[in-house]
Amino acid sequence: MATFKAVVVDKTDAGQTVRLTDFDEKDLMDGDVTVAVEYSTLNYKDGLALTGKSPVVRRFPMIAGIDFAGTVENSSHPSWKPGDKVILNGWGLGETYLGAYAEKARVKSDWLVRLPASMSARDAMAIGTAGYTAMLSVLALERGGITPARGSIVVTGAAGGVGSVAVALLAKLGYHVIASTGRPSEVDYLKRLGAAEMIERKELAGAPRALGKERWAGAIDAVGSATLANVLSMTRYGGVVTACGLAGGMDLPTTVAPFILRGVSLIGIDSVMCPLPLRQQAWRRLETDFDRGKIESMTSEIGLSDVIDAGPRILAGDVRGRIVVKIR
Ligand code: NDP
Repeated sequence: MATFKAVVVDKTDAGQTVRLTDFDEKDLMDGDVTVAVEYSTLNYKDGLALTGKSPVVRRFPMIAGIDFAGTVENSSHPSWKPGDKVILNGWGLGETYLGAYAEKARVKSDWLVRLPASMSARDAMAIGTAGYTAMLSVLALERGGITPARGSIVVTGAAGGVGSVAVALLAKLGYHVIASTGRPSEVDYLKRLGAAEMIERKELAGAPRALGKERWAGAIDAVGSATLANVLSMTRYGGVVTACGLAGGMDLPTTVAPFILRGVSLIGIDSVMCPLPLRQQAWRRLETDFDRGKIESMTSEIGLSDVIDAGPRILAGDVRGRIVVKIR
């Protein structure tokens, strides 16, 4: 019997369990590529899955973990051969499909993106799904015509994973970045990433007005709820706001005023089912436009056995930047 180490979420009559265990290779799901997983990450969604706080896991038992970087071991698909370095984000990994917190994964060939030549597997997972989502958000601002000359960009949840990478990316691209954080202790960290101005989280958390003073040309929001509504109400005429997250709540207590009176656009960002060409574009841009010198300041590393305890920490909002998970 061939087994490998994996973090497995299961459901019993008493509720959800999660443990590091030996997983039998014969229980892997169908797929045409088998990957030796080297690094994964801890994303907000992983925290939800590990704690069972939201119904992220749809199949039991489930190997948790929504993203990985590793090396192809076996492939029956002509696009991939043993030794190829690959990245996978989303596609239901850790939700409906056995996931990334494991020494081995069997997946579908068309879910894989080639690891950019100048990146290590660890670099890619330090960026992770959070950073790739930040890049998808930047691409959406660009498609909406938001250049640095149009004005400032506000990033909410700035000291978190999506926020940290968004701040660093936007700063490198020449934008004036306003970072919104609830953690005054992280102001210096955010300035080092490239934030030019700070705004306290609570300034954006009050009851939203239909329209407020126009303060920014665009926004990358990872928080949702009243924060996103306030961001929209303060976006300049013709501005673009991207929404990817719900760290502050799932609701959106806004009015149509920003859309019909200021021509503001609200663009939804989904990393999970994002089409392959856009993923490839995002990873190419992450290779060229993300200052990897900033990775160490925004990344901490844990092992596979530490993942279970780290889940509640990311939901509590006390993780700075990104956590990479060293699998082997
Ligand atoms: P993190 O936990 O790393 O960051 C979230 C940040 O939001 C925190 O660091 C904190 O920033 C802020 N925050 C936390 N709680 C609250 C609150 N109650 N009110 C206001 N702000 C709060 O998570 P990630 O960066 O990994 O993910 C951020 C969000 O984006 C999550 O909701 C996640 O599910 C979503 N996401 C969505 C994706 C998609 O495909 N659509 C892909 C990836 C992530 P600070 O301390 O600076 O205020």
